[in-house]
Amino acid sequence: MRIAIAYAALLAAASSWAADFSQAFTDSTLRIDYVLSGTPGDVSIGLRGLSRHAHWAGRKHNLEKPLYAGNGDITVTSLDGDTLYAQSFSSLFNEWLDLGLDVPSSAECPLLVPMPREKVKVTARLLDKRHLPAASIEHIVDPADILIRRRDQKPLTHTYVHRATYDGPHIGVAILAEGYAADEMEAFVSDASAASEAILSHSPFDRYADRIDFIAVHTPSEQSGVSVPNDGDWLDTAFGSHFSTFYSDRYLTSPALFKMYDAVANIPAQHLIILANTPEYGGGGIFNAYTLTASKHAAFHPVVVHEFGHSFGGLADEYFYTGDTFDNTYPLDIEPWEPNITTLTDFASKWEGLLKAGTPIPTPADSAAAYPAGVYEGGGYSARGVYRPALNCRMRTNDSPAFCPACTEALARIIRFYTEPLD
Ligand SMILES: [Zn+2]
Repeated sequence: MRIAIAYAALLAAASSWAADFSQAFTDSTLRIDYVLSGTPGDVSIGLRGLSRHAHWAGRKHNLEKPLYAGNGDITVTSLDGDTLYAQSFSSLFNEWLDLGLDVPSSAECPLLVPMPREKVKVTARLLDKRHLPAASIEHIVDPADILIRRRDQKPLTHTYVHRATYDGPHIGVAILAEGYAADEMEAFVSDASAASEAILSHSPFDRYADRIDFIAVHTPSEQSGVSVPNDGDWLDTAFGSHFSTFYSDRYLTSPALFKMYDAVANIPAQHLIILANTPEYGGGGIFNAYTLTASKHAAFHPVVVHEFGHSFGGLADEYFYTGDTFDNTYPLDIEPWEPNITTLTDFASKWEGLLKAGTPIPTPADSAAAYPAGVYEGGGYSARGVYRPALNCRMRTNDSPAFCPACTEALARIIRFYTEPLD
């Protein structure tokens, strides 16, 4: 009886959250395309255009605050100033700013919010590495605006390679083909299936497999393979991806975010994985933007899971290489927003709760056997001053069999954030 009452109360609470959503929003998506541009110290955000997708595949609860801060955010407020929805993101542009390159550059930044019922104010900000606004834009969106492009077209051909059965909100992950010719779609779906199996074989995804849809979207390319600048190979592919981003050989990215979001119009997914049909080694993952990884390399499975840790979970790299393109990019007097590294500036906000009583901080590497969760120096591209939770982790090496305890906990938290109303 007690359980029945508690369940009834939970249902009532859930329906009241749903009511909050449907009071402010319709069950469709407002896509806002921004362009980020400028030089470090002089960055601006411009509005490229607005469009509407037929359904909303994001969360309808926990609306007002994203779980992790990211390197940028978008907030929808009522004209009375009430926050209705907020989400965070990162962009390759943040990394370009961190590298301090001084040639003015620009990047596409499409963001998805639920379609408001009334006029709203939308604010988008890009944050610098000290978490201060590097640029912001504020504009009013009127849902009756005739210039909001309607994208009601039939979705592209797609195949569910894993289907959620959870009796609640699902997390939709779209897997797109990059560098697969039209006659290679069967191979692509098979690679997409392998990617979803690799992710779902890792804890905590295995525990929540019933909450995640993986949907392979057929996006054929003119040519087979992807661009490898080191070899002088530039190919005509669906999303124009290439290796050697920022001259880092293994860094595979795509500038074509608007095209990626075009490809998932009216497909119930808000997280993107792009599989690049190449045996070259590499990948990239950008929080709430996309994962892009090579599907024909022997390390495909660990790499796709690692990059998804970035793009879905907001996890930081736990490795560092002296002299790498990214070297000492985190300021040591600020706590990073990523849940799996710390500068010890505010460690209580991180994985302190996972430490056994008496765990030395920092934890010596030679006592790792005694402390599976510890505070090990080196991570986030820094040999000194940045600490990671374990000696090894999926976010550190391809040889690690699993995510470390702090990453596992952080991923479980974000899965629950998207699929359950939290207190
Ligand atoms: Zn980890």
